[in-house]
Amino acid sequence: MASLDNDHHHHLHFVLFPLMSPGHVIPMVDMAKLLVQHGTTTTLITTTLMAASIRPTIHRTASAGLPLRLLSVPFPATEVGLPEGCESVETIPSIDLLKNFLLGMELLQQPFERLLGQLEPCPSCIIADKSLPWVAQTARKFQVPRIIFDGMSCFTLLCSRNLHVSRAHESVSESETFVLPGLPDTIEMTRSQLPPAFNPGTFDPQDFRKRVREAEEEAYGTVINSFEELEPRYLEEIQKVKGKRVWCIGPLSLCNKDNLDKAQRGYKASVDEKQCLKWLDTKEPGSVVYACLGSLSRLTVPQLVELGLGLELSKRPFVWVIKRGDKVEEIDKWIEEARFEERTNGRGLLIRGWAPQVLILDHPAVGAFLTHCGWNSTLEGVCAGMPMITWPILAEQFFNEKLVVQVLEIGVSVGAQGVVHLLEDDKFGVVVKSEAVVEAIETVMDGGEKE
Ligand code: UDP
Repeated sequence: MASLDNDHHHHLHFVLFPLMSPGHVIPMVDMAKLLVQHGTTTTLITTTLMAASIRPTIHRTASAGLPLRLLSVPFPATEVGLPEGCESVETIPSIDLLKNFLLGMELLQQPFERLLGQLEPCPSCIIADKSLPWVAQTARKFQVPRIIFDGMSCFTLLCSRNLHVSRAHESVSESETFVLPGLPDTIEMTRSQLPPAFNPGTFDPQDFRKRVREAEEEAYGTVINSFEELEPRYLEEIQKVKGKRVWCIGPLSLCNKDNLDKAQRGYKASVDEKQCLKWLDTKEPGSVVYACLGSLSRLTVPQLVELGLGLELSKRPFVWVIKRGDKVEEIDKWIEEARFEERTNGRGLLIRGWAPQVLILDHPAVGAFLTHCGWNSTLEGVCAGMPMITWPILAEQFFNEKLVVQVLEIGVSVGAQGVVHLLEDDKFGVVVKSEAVVEAIETVMDGGEKE
């Protein structure tokens, strides 16, 4: 088997395979850039459409003379009963089709292995997203060490691991608060705020989760997009319990130095980045609220309206990113009928679709980040020195909220109640009122201290 304990790291050839979702592809593209900056050869392999969206970024790095390559495998969308072009988690049309997507992910093994067999030089290590457990088999077949990319914080990893072992959540009702076991801090949550592994939605792929855990056990090590100074006690605990090689290699987004690199991450931005910067240049330093709820979140239209009203009532300039998706027409209708843009004339920049997030966060005019607490966004906010207004929605985002608000004390919660399951409708309705949005904005922007 190839060894990673090799001083001649310039001979190393890393092969990266991300899960097809912006929150997983983006940090892995950054990771690929970092690896080549450190003198290795790196090949990133993903599906055809995902590859098309990241090609400009990869090409820019490659044309600077760094040995970075992008290869693609076709995703068998129609073969598994998905609409053509459905290659990324956020494009799955409904929860019933999630299992089809998982099947499509399995079918990537053969084409991936075909590509791997043809690679020159031979791969010395595969780094794959933890949601692709079949890579364990591939790595064994090719006798190549495999490292897992876990896109979560050390805090989340420890919370999840302790819950998995203790089953503490099983003895409480959905809305009862309980203390998360075995953490360095006292953190209370309700069961309905826990990620799906402990709070399943209508689709509960337990076998898949079990395979993910088993593949994790056998891996050579794990890389995490975090840094030791941010969550030292949680990293230490995770290193203790995993008893394996665990490396914090973040914050990965910091490898993007110039405006183009910061602007072109994931998809093509729906706004001209120069115009966006020009608009921000007209605002006072630290005065703008940047509101973006990530690539996957699905709030109801009335709940989104409350967010819009909160931004209006805050009387501060704001950038509001409205994700393209099934509700966009309804929210557009409200914006038009309520004459929202006229009412907030000049004070609000609406981005419908994809925002150049890191570019915006790094602009001196931005003074607060209203975020869904996806881990990448959270870290990007930390890197930009942003106080955060936390509005977790799904997956492990309520854990990240706890880290931001209670452990790091760099944010204020708007008071979201429970996890909305991926691709399912928000059963909570309007939980966060516009007044709560205003209050949280005021607290963080007036330099408010917790009482
Ligand atoms: N992102 C972006 N523009 C958008 C929405 C998201 O650039 O309009 C990026 C964001 O900077 C982050 C990633 O997409 O790097 C989203 O990952 P995160 O873990 O925050 O949340 P997810 O979308 O996976 O819920």
